[in-house]
Amino acid sequence: MSKIRLVDANAMSERCERLIEASSDDYIIGVLQMVESFIDAQPTLDIKSAAEKEGEWIKEATLCRCSECGDLWGIVHGFKYCPTCGAKMKGVF
Ligand SMILES: [Zn+2]
Repeated sequence: MSKIRLVDANAMSERCERLIEASSDDYIIGVLQMVESFIDAQPTLDIKSAAEKEGEWIKEATLCRCSECGDLWGIVHGFKYCPTCGAKMKGVF
C-alpha cells in the first residue's frame, strides 16, 4: 500500500471540465464525467483533526469498522489511515 496522498480535488475536477469542453468524442466525455463524479464523491478530510485522530480497524464478519467514525469498509488490508475520517490506524491488517 502506498502512502496516502493529499490532492487538490477541485483542481482535478476543473481539469476534467476543461477536457470535457474540449472534447467532441461522446465516449471520452462519458469517461471524463465518470471520473469527475468519482473525484467529487471522495470524502473531504479535515487535516488538522485527522492528524490528531488515532483509531483501529474493528473486524465485523467480512468487514472492518473504523473505531473513530464508524464507517464500514470491505477491504482495509494495508490501510494505515481511514479513508473516511483520516484517522491513523493502529494494528493495520
Ligand atoms: Zn474513520
